[in-house]
Amino acid sequence: MQVLHHIRRRTHTVERVPAVMWFRRDLRVSDNPALVAATEAGNGSALGVFVLDPALLRPCGTPRLAVLYRTLRALDAQLGGNLVVRHGQPAAVLAELCREVAADSVHCAADFGPYGARRDQVVADALDGVPLRRTGSPYAVSPGSVVNGSGQNFKVYSAFYRAWRQHGWAQPARSVRPQWMPARSDGVPADPELPAGLRLPEVGEPTARHAWQAFLAGPIEDYADHRDRPDLNRTSHMSVHLKWGTIHPRTLLAGLSERHETYRRELAWREFYADVLHHRPDTARAYYHGQLQGLPFATGRLAELRLAAWAAGRTGYPIVDAGMRQMLAEGWMHNRVRMIVASFLVKDLHVEWTDGARHFMRHLVDGDLASNAHGWQWVAGTGTDPAPYYRIFNPVLQGKKFDPDGAYIRRYVPELAGTPTSLIHEPWRSPGGLPPGYPERIVDHAVERAVSLADYNALRQAR
Ligand code: FAD
Repeated sequence: MQVLHHIRRRTHTVERVPAVMWFRRDLRVSDNPALVAATEAGNGSALGVFVLDPALLRPCGTPRLAVLYRTLRALDAQLGGNLVVRHGQPAAVLAELCREVAADSVHCAADFGPYGARRDQVVADALDGVPLRRTGSPYAVSPGSVVNGSGQNFKVYSAFYRAWRQHGWAQPARSVRPQWMPARSDGVPADPELPAGLRLPEVGEPTARHAWQAFLAGPIEDYADHRDRPDLNRTSHMSVHLKWGTIHPRTLLAGLSERHETYRRELAWREFYADVLHHRPDTARAYYHGQLQGLPFATGRLAELRLAAWAAGRTGYPIVDAGMRQMLAEGWMHNRVRMIVASFLVKDLHVEWTDGARHFMRHLVDGDLASNAHGWQWVAGTGTDPAPYYRIFNPVLQGKKFDPDGAYIRRYVPELAGTPTSLIHEPWRSPGGLPPGYPERIVDHAVERAVSLADYNALRQAR
């Protein structure tokens, strides 16, 4: 195959043999080791391509699709309008492109996700002797690299974190500015029709870097104190940029000093979950720990009605409704509230975590298979949470603790805008009744908590 390829190349007279830079979840030009490799291989020039793969586009809801298209437009501008966008199966598209431009090599960052790893193998096999070179990954430390003394991966975050820090990571990659080669492009599609009123974040590499600098210039200093407070909105909002690779975690880590330990720990959760999924690709949908397989869940019409009320932010529990409405309004939800709404769906409404995870993946602009599936499994008690008890969040107490004045609730649930702070987390206690338009509680938390615990204990005894 290699020999055939060389013969083919010599029989074509090409002015310059381009290296193809296949962009996927790394839609940036800075701190991009695969782009450095492509530029070196292409003697200073490269051809940038993004493949609109139906298998990846299908599970994207319209908010994430719009964010992807906007990010691609930003990348295209950085490439001087030379980003080649093509629709189709990556193997067929890249094989054809390589023939068209007599490419010598195709470069990308390694993908450790279940689908991406399989796809890359199919692409490597289809390239007719043109090597697919994988350099770097979307992580500071590539999944599979952090192991214990017996060479095993970690099952618990705290041990992973210690080893991850000890392992360390590279400094950001050097900057390269290749000459971008043109080729036929289908162009970036127009944004899909979006729900009215949806406010999407600004995206693209320049925006990501600017937002990161702004975060470093101030908010990071009290991140440790404020990160759990959705009312204060003081987290970095880097997740959408990390999702599409408009900034790399290595760049973020390089900007931190020793005192920013809390932020480093949060970034490590993303790395941990990617590592867990790499070792157990089935856990994108299957239970990481099987002990809770068999818990009874709502089914049929009841499950549908509960899921619909939860998804619309109409459960009658203000902090839950505010979170679900934030996701509808912005395609993003604060981490603390993600935990509260997930716990409520699984442990109060008795809907299986897989349904909630699927719903999040359709609506989140930062929807990431590893962080989402394992965020859900952590809350559901089926994942990597090492707590020796069955954790059930109380939505009223969580609201009082993390949104003490109810400012977050008032921002997203206008029916409660005039509710006094003393009642904002429990409006059903209001002597005058619920404010117009706000729903009755769908369930009573105290009752459902007892049901969940009884189900859990029954399952454990049966084992
Ligand atoms: P910051 O607080 O500024 O944190 C910085 C970065 O650290 C984040 O951008 C993220 O990359 C990482 N991080 C922080 N907390 C976590 C965490 N618990 N797990 C993994 N990484 C973390 N994150 C996603 O990126 N995509 C998802 O699809 C996703 N789904 C989730 C589902 C559930 C049920 C839960 C509980 C959490 C989920 N998370 C997910 C994690 C977390 O909620 C988001 O990363 C965070 O809210 C993003 O906001 P931020 O960038 O302002 O976070």
